[in-house]
Amino acid sequence: MLTVADAQALVLERVLPGPVICRSLGIELLGMTLAQHIDATSDSPPFDKAMVDGYAVRSTDAKAPGAMLTLIEEIPAGQMPRRTVGPGQASLIMTGAPLPSGADAVIMHEQTQRQEQQVILHTAVRPSQNVLRRGTEMAAGEQVFTSGTTITPAVLGVLASLGAVEVSVHQPPRVAILSTGDEVVEPETTPADGQIRNSNGLLLTSLVAQAGGVPTYLGIARDQPENLSRMIQAGLAADMLVISGGVSAGALDLVPRLLSEAGVTVHFHKVAMKPGKPLLFGTCGRTLAFGLPGNPVSSLVGFELFVRPALRRRLGQPRPLPMEVEAELTMDFQHQSDRPTWYPARLANQGVCRKVTPLGWRGSADLRTLASAHGLMKLPAGTCRLEAGTTVTVHLLSGVWLQADSG
Ligand code: AMP
Ligand code: MG
Repeated sequence: MLTVADAQALVLERVLPGPVICRSLGIELLGMTLAQHIDATSDSPPFDKAMVDGYAVRSTDAKAPGAMLTLIEEIPAGQMPRRTVGPGQASLIMTGAPLPSGADAVIMHEQTQRQEQQVILHTAVRPSQNVLRRGTEMAAGEQVFTSGTTITPAVLGVLASLGAVEVSVHQPPRVAILSTGDEVVEPETTPADGQIRNSNGLLLTSLVAQAGGVPTYLGIARDQPENLSRMIQAGLAADMLVISGGVSAGALDLVPRLLSEAGVTVHFHKVAMKPGKPLLFGTCGRTLAFGLPGNPVSSLVGFELFVRPALRRRLGQPRPLPMEVEAELTMDFQHQSDRPTWYPARLANQGVCRKVTPLGWRGSADLRTLASAHGLMKLPAGTCRLEAGTTVTVHLLSGVWLQADSG
């Protein structure tokens, strides 16, 4: 059976970064990927700048504490100094204001004493003290970001400081989400006997949104060819279609056949993994189709291992595969399965060590336990008996922040 790594390679082979579009600078760009290099158009800061409120001085006047200087000017932020600081002189200066010529340092207000038009410096002053020199952060013409950079709040802040009001990014893919199953009802409906509520609709829609895609939730298709076909057709109009349920070998698992009939070429239909062995990937032109098993945990793990990397590649991210970390087991742990397993676990930092604790997990329908997981421990097929202290690999679930000794 196909390994997860081989299946991921098969998916990524068939995904290209999305078209390059030009977008105005704004929070809508968060999570997108730059499709252009960004160069600094000017020096930042554009002038030698005071980093504290205090007095601009000549450091040669203040080699030892106790210097007394004559005040010649006040320089608020946003205004250019008009006077040159000569020997024995100082200018009152605010944080962010340009350093006047003649001065080469700023002494903090707290280290001085004002006596009318004089100021006494309680400490010595070093050249360049409390001054950010012109171009220190970036110099005109310097490359600031390369194509492929993820747009984070800090990147947006830098783009704003550069006046990059239009930037090229990869267009986020439109992702259609379809739940299937005669037994599945929407959350607001009280399930009748034999029915369950739809977890996967919201789960997958929010995973897509969190991963930077543009989700459209199509609803629940019944296990009935006409209805399911129609909804598959609608879904194939998107850049990606993610279906949950109906993908295994039961009589009512119609998804593989109906996807083929809709023109989808199926590249694989089974992957050696637990949870979620029946997992389909196909393409129809440039549209990608994923059939994830209906059990919510299998849907989530299938999304993390295959859909998220495809989405990341479409977004133009240079490293689309999931982030993994090593961690030490906090307890003895035994596990047996015929397939490699992704097992929910919690992570914690203890000093410089990262620790992992497997959760008491009750299988692929147990989404509740997964909701408290930070990651998925990768376990090989067969029987594994691991002692406390063994190092294991953990696939990080997105949105997880590791805190020291977090419970
Ligand atoms: P299936 O993959 O269609 O054979 O479904 C596997 C299991 O997942 C069954 O127990 C289904 O009832 C359940 N299931 C399928 N779709 C959903 C869904 N959208 N939300 C919650 N459970 C589901
Ligand atoms: Mg089903």
